[in-house]
Amino acid sequence: MSSIVVDGTPRTFLSPQIIQHIQKHALQRDSGSFEERNSFIEQRGSTQFFESFSLDPPKKCERMYSFPLTSKATPSPSPIEVFDASTFKLRKYRDRSTIYISDTTASICFDNMVRIDSFCREVFKRHPVANSEKTMISLLHHRLAKNNACWVPHLECVYFGDTDPDTFRPLDTNADVISHEFGHAVIQYAGGLQYRNQSGALNESLADVFAIMTKHYLSKVKANDPNASWLVGEGIVVSDKAKGALRSMEDPGSAYNNPRLGKDPQPKDMSDYRTTSEDHGGVHLYSGIPNRAFCLAAKAEGGASWEKIGKIWFQALEQGKPDMLFSQFALHTLRVAHLEYGDNIANIVGQAWQQVGVNFAKTISLGQLAAFIGGGLGTAFIANTTMVALMDPEKLTSFKLGGIILGGCFGGLALANRLEKRNLRALGMQI
Ligand SMILES: [Zn+2]
Repeated sequence: MSSIVVDGTPRTFLSPQIIQHIQKHALQRDSGSFEERNSFIEQRGSTQFFESFSLDPPKKCERMYSFPLTSKATPSPSPIEVFDASTFKLRKYRDRSTIYISDTTASICFDNMVRIDSFCREVFKRHPVANSEKTMISLLHHRLAKNNACWVPHLECVYFGDTDPDTFRPLDTNADVISHEFGHAVIQYAGGLQYRNQSGALNESLADVFAIMTKHYLSKVKANDPNASWLVGEGIVVSDKAKGALRSMEDPGSAYNNPRLGKDPQPKDMSDYRTTSEDHGGVHLYSGIPNRAFCLAAKAEGGASWEKIGKIWFQALEQGKPDMLFSQFALHTLRVAHLEYGDNIANIVGQAWQQVGVNFAKTISLGQLAAFIGGGLGTAFIANTTMVALMDPEKLTSFKLGGIILGGCFGGLALANRLEKRNLRALGMQI
């Protein structure tokens, strides 16, 4: 078990740009002051607590994580609770044993949470929240998440906001959205990827991967089955010229296109990757790149997405650092693929990353580059000392010293090359 600090930034389903876009075109405006809309008193069970929704600076909290995929036993079902958060005092709709308030939306949300819990326990042998029997909690009609849904890391629950009906169909009854949000819960305890820049985009991508695996698992389709959907948030976008979804893992940039939301801006590969300060460094924008890598790998492998490739992705998540780049995550997937399933699957994974322009080879060749520079410096040094020794035999000591250094450098170069080749072979690369 290791300890990490997880920031409290809500892991939203939609990017702030989309929300701004909606607000610009919205017929209705949120009521209440900024303070009213950004703080909240919640009643969870018998406990009432003040909740701050501060994004700047985000709340921080200490978290423990572990991802024991080696465990074979399926854990017992997680407790599940669904609340109405439309008023300051939370009202519980239902839990696993009791229906307190009969409500169709709450029932659909609850049923989806049961299915997500089953998928997570049966496939990954772990509970979705905190990898323990912690309660899965959804708060519906939340005033702080209008037209959005988010996993709140320090409160360990999901907020679902109501939507403008002419923009989105309800998010709290959409299986993809609910799975995506609880995917963030899994990620938090399986590596806790920082929610900014490339690690943040990986966080968003892995939440989509979790959602798509859940969907495939429940509909029993293989990755390259014609019926296998690669759309996330399928059906939530109203009156759309495109696919009416929020993201396409197979074809990023093609999910939605309408005047209210604009056009899906996700690039397909690294050639359109630009550094940005918006949306925590483009976490919802660039998640499409690793999403597509996952889709390509799963389709090329040909089995079920939640089996080999899904397990590789989540083991790689656990093994990487919280601030890892795409290329570093890709290397972890290659390593896991090779160790768990051999060269053939590792090559499939490597090709998928290459197709989206994530070049892990650059990372691999750093050691070779250092050895090469060392060798070059050694050569220059011996050339210099040789010249000196030839001109003045008394400086033979320098000549010998130069020889030793050169020998050391070339020895180091040979060793580094050998190690690099061993690394490459271990990663299943054709060299
Ligand atoms: Zn998200």
